[in-house]
Amino acid sequence: MFDLPELPYEQDALEPVISADTMQFHHGKHHAKYVETLNSLLKEMGLAERDLESLILAAKDADDPAMTKLFNNAAQTWNHTFFWHAMSDNRAAPGPALAEAIQRTFGGPDKLADEFVKQGGAHFGSGWVWLGAKDGSLTVFTTHDADDTVACGNVTPLLVCDLWEHAYYLDYQNDRAAFLKAWFEALPNWSLADRQFAASKGEGQAWKHPLPH
Ligand code: MN
Repeated sequence: MFDLPELPYEQDALEPVISADTMQFHHGKHHAKYVETLNSLLKEMGLAERDLESLILAAKDADDPAMTKLFNNAAQTWNHTFFWHAMSDNRAAPGPALAEAIQRTFGGPDKLADEFVKQGGAHFGSGWVWLGAKDGSLTVFTTHDADDTVACGNVTPLLVCDLWEHAYYLDYQNDRAAFLKAWFEALPNWSLADRQFAASKGEGQAWKHPLPH
């Protein structure tokens, strides 16, 4: 059984960028439902419990509707837990190594913010916008629906923001770009991004989802 992980901060900690109401529905209903469905699928399908990363890899690209459903719920469980950790109410800046890479790749933090907002705003439908590290350099990209970086394999996620309407509709209605702009200014957890960037270069371990019990 996977547990719904607790938020790493209070429900209202990310206000005013994300309201406590949005957090309550997003974590308490949407994320909870993905975890609940994942657990019931594992039971129905008689699958042995193992770490979420290897479950996602086993279920991806399977030519079987049950496995696709398993992939969607496993990946959404992973994405949401990582998303909560990719935010912080403690405004900080990237460390020196990451700051240097941001300068080199994008030409500075403002240009990275513009790229993140542009790609997330232009993404058609539901999905996720990521800052990732690949072969020593940084990249901004989006994935559709439940698709995640576990299944991509060769990219380490540093940050992610949820592009599904449930992530912003209560607070911003249809204005996804306004949500992303406010999000990028105030909420990224740069200490996590620093650690993930180091892990992408073989220094330390990348973030992993908590194990089932
Ligand atoms: Mn979501």
